[in-house]
Amino acid sequence: MSAHLEFAEKNAKYAETFDKGDLPVPPAKKLLIVTCMDARIDCYKSLGLELGEAHVVRNAGGSARDAFRSILISQRLLGTREIAVFHHTNCGMQSFTAPQLRDIVKSDAQSKPDNEKDKIETTVDGMEFYEFSDLEGSVRNDVKFLKENLLVLDEAEITGWVYDTANGKVRQVV
Ligand SMILES: [Zn+2]
Repeated sequence: MSAHLEFAEKNAKYAETFDKGDLPVPPAKKLLIVTCMDARIDCYKSLGLELGEAHVVRNAGGSARDAFRSILISQRLLGTREIAVFHHTNCGMQSFTAPQLRDIVKSDAQSKPDNEKDKIETTVDGMEFYEFSDLEGSVRNDVKFLKENLLVLDEAEITGWVYDTANGKVRQVV
């Protein structure tokens, strides 16, 4: 059964007790979190955050480069002044290399017409995936990217963290 078929019913229950309809748009803690899309991570609960307190940008790996567009909007238009980058143990981003993933995409496209196949190959060859093998190194690398990025506000406080999916604990790396 498709997951979306349960949305209406589950949401009706959620909305019954929903009382946060008057929160302001800017996050109360002026905080932006970058973290992985991994389904095992509950960013709000694990850090004791409430609705309306932080921006959370999620993508594969919790890549700051991938999140950069949202970070810029968050800082310049919605007032966030702190960035916390979270990567995590047992991340899918440690399990492949970009060339392997490009090959999968190209192989999936084999049955397509030639013009579409060419477009798919050119597009995927031009894509970065920001995969990594060294977990802590990848956090340091992302924090460095943000600190050196001229479009990130100088006054922004930037920290880097590892979340352990085995025990729910976080550890500061930078
Ligand atoms: Zn992950």
